[in-house]
Amino acid sequence: MSSNQSIYQKYNLKTVINTSGRMTILGVSTPREDVVEAVNFGLNHYFEVKDLVNKTGRYIADLLGVEDAVVVSCASAGIAQSVAAVIVKDNLYRLENLHAHPHDVPSEIVVPKGHNVNFGAPVGTMVQLGGGTLREAGYANECSPAQLAAAITPNTAAILYIKSHHCVQKSMLNVAQAAEVAKAHQLPLIVDAAAEEDLQCYYHMGADLVIYSGAKAIEGPTSGLVIGKQQYVEWVKLQSNGIGRAMKVGKEGILGLTQAIASYMTLEKESGQQMVEKMTAFIENLNSLNGVQAKVVWDSAGRDIARTEIAFDHAALGISTQEIVDRLKNGDPAIYFRGYKANEGKIEVDVRSVSAEQLHTVYQCIKALF
Ligand SMILES: *Cc1c(COP(=O)(O)O)cnc(C)c1O
Repeated sequence: MSSNQSIYQKYNLKTVINTSGRMTILGVSTPREDVVEAVNFGLNHYFEVKDLVNKTGRYIADLLGVEDAVVVSCASAGIAQSVAAVIVKDNLYRLENLHAHPHDVPSEIVVPKGHNVNFGAPVGTMVQLGGGTLREAGYANECSPAQLAAAITPNTAAILYIKSHHCVQKSMLNVAQAAEVAKAHQLPLIVDAAAEEDLQCYYHMGADLVIYSGAKAIEGPTSGLVIGKQQYVEWVKLQSNGIGRAMKVGKEGILGLTQAIASYMTLEKESGQQMVEKMTAFIENLNSLNGVQAKVVWDSAGRDIARTEIAFDHAALGISTQEIVDRLKNGDPAIYFRGYKANEGKIEVDVRSVSAEQLHTVYQCIKALF
């Protein structure tokens, strides 16, 4: 703790209370000690990196019961390299000339329109980095299996499905349905499950490649995981001599994420019910404030995550929710909420990354505003 404090002082950094969840803009998560030890071991030793990549991939694949796996630098890199993999396959010329000119192989990536989101960077940018072109299927508010299939052409290289709370959820086909469409057209299905908690279900639903962010649910170091069918994972690995070099993952990231996955699969997770218990006093305190209403809400993407939703009565408080969010963000400590619904007068508090003490600080800072 003392060395942490000195880093904040040394660079004059703002201290942060993160009630927004696994957010890249705040540093995502704080890995456990066993992960830090694995990172440390990696930093202090040499390896044949290919050997390290292959054997850790094998170890992770066996843990998860999938054909193969590879650690990459982040989920975004996983998307870009997966797209490049399905276009380039094992062709050396295309590997080394991906962006030099168009290639005489399929390069379109079909994505449900409601999945063409900005997760902090646009999905389309990652597809383009991988040498692909995005082709949208369906509409902003719907995509059925038939609409997905209708967007497939002879130039389609893969179907990409984004499993995320960022996406449109209603009238949207599920992963198993997307897998059926892919199979019927002999195309690979790539699933971006960056922030998802289940490391096996999308593979079992028929995805050929599934991508996870290493620091989100898994709480590893900055890294990403790509799992899937042997042949496709092999092609992803080849990208380390192509676009993958610009998104290189280090030995420390590879060993850190591998350890984090092993722990993630064995340790008991904090359940939604435990999160509810953690926030009960906080909710009671908030509800004692005039013009403030707090309650438990469950994750909109269906994960076992409970959060506190706080609704502000603008008329009673004389201040808009956006102003409240901004003031708390600019305070000391800076408090970050989930602000997706600020325009509806509501914010959400994710308690996974905060202590009970920090939660009380959040309450006091809200109280002090009025
Ligand atoms: C976070 C996220 C990403 C990017 O993950 P990184 O590991 O930060 O690159 C991609 N897709 C979705 C849906 C995400 O939530």
